Amino acid sequence: MNLLEKLTSLSKRRGFVYPSSEIYGGISGIWDYGPLGVELKNNIKNAFWKEILQKNENIFGIDAAIVMHPKVWEASGHLESFSDPLVECKKCHHRFRADYLKENFCPDCAGPLTTPKKFNLLVETYLGVVEGEKLKTYLRGEITQGVHVNFKNILNSSRAKIPFGVAQIGKAFRNEITPGNFTFRSREFEQMELQFYVKPNLEESFRWLDYWKEKRFNWYLKLGFKKENLRFKEHQRDELAHYAKAAFDIEYLLDGEWREMEGIHHRGDWDLRRHRDFSGEDLTYFDEETKEKYLPYIIETSGGVDRAFLFLLADAYFEDEINGEKRVVLKLNPQLAPYKVAVFPLLANKPQLIKLAREIYKNLKNEIMTVWDDRGNIGKRYRFQDEIGTPFCVTVDFESLEKNDVTVRSRDTTKQTRIKINQLNTFLKDAIKKETIDF
Ligand code: ATP
Repeated sequence: MNLLEKLTSLSKRRGFVYPSSEIYGGISGIWDYGPLGVELKNNIKNAFWKEILQKNENIFGIDAAIVMHPKVWEASGHLESFSDPLVECKKCHHRFRADYLKENFCPDCAGPLTTPKKFNLLVETYLGVVEGEKLKTYLRGEITQGVHVNFKNILNSSRAKIPFGVAQIGKAFRNEITPGNFTFRSREFEQMELQFYVKPNLEESFRWLDYWKEKRFNWYLKLGFKKENLRFKEHQRDELAHYAKAAFDIEYLLDGEWREMEGIHHRGDWDLRRHRDFSGEDLTYFDEETKEKYLPYIIETSGGVDRAFLFLLADAYFEDEINGEKRVVLKLNPQLAPYKVAVFPLLANKPQLIKLAREIYKNLKNEIMTVWDDRGNIGKRYRFQDEIGTPFCVTVDFESLEKNDVTVRSRDTTKQTRIKINQLNTFLKDAIKKETIDF
């Protein structure tokens, strides 16, 4: 089994990610996040929001709608250019992305292929109640456009002054020809983005591109990614998207293959210019300093939440041996881990132990994401918590009843320490902070 297969299986077994609508056979490229998955995903999104929005004074947030006026996609160029080359096998009629095939025949049955056709990735939908008069529109193929069509609203309702940015997190939809590699290529996924507006000056705008490239790369390091598994890839001229002047991807190395996690793009004034031309609205910015009117340039950072999620699992996954026994452990950054602490009574059938352990659990739960576990024996509980990435386990034993202390065991070192119950919350909060680079 390669790592991606191991992660797919662990995710389902432990409740990170399930195939969507599984009881009906699933649906290709669509996934549901389970109880642990939703925690990890929210922690990633909160970390992004804190880094981009909270820590900067010139960044504003937005949460635009998924369904937009169909003209948006005409203006943005998606109706014309948002496509991948599709080929079909003439024998078995399976369909493939032509640019992903190594040979010019069907990988499933070796049959001959049609010539490549442009296949548009936008997902169509229809609004309205009268048959024949329904409005055909699209589920957004990227969250970006929701920001640019609101450029004027944001300027008029905030004190935004260039350079400034707009951050957004939300769902996007693409009718991918070949979804797969677990959640890596999904048809419904989430993006976390920053659209940063700067003066339309090439030199200055490229300085901002460098600035955000570095910032974004360092953020992934702060999340805990190993540096050797991350790299930049620059897009060559012929690889650039229709709107881009320059583009870099942050890539992650998984199962020996470099895969895109985030794109950092110089979009020029493409989006504002096109929306100005298509809507007829004046989308220029008046610069009070220079008394000039202009369409700003846009530097964009566009990351996939699901891809960061998947790569974090991959980066954190270890198999090791403790006292001759194999274990799987997710060494997730404690600030991202779904649960920070698990509390156990040493034995599940001793009322005094349970009473004290429940008190400790409830007390911790008010301040830290904590889980209760009294199934099986202690060894099994440790294995279980290791596999879901819980950094600390607290055990209440008979000594606890006399000495008012508990055992705290670390996921990464498996070392155990006794801590006084009245110091436990502070000890754990400090340990969670200390074990990670603060973000
Ligand atoms: P790819 O080349 O992998 O198709 P892209 O270059 O089309 O990706 P962008 O349009 O730049 O991707 O989107 C920005 C980010 O959104 C990507 O870096 C990725 O993290 C995420 N993303 C794009 N498509 C998908 C998808 N089908 N499933 C999950 N995440 C995606």
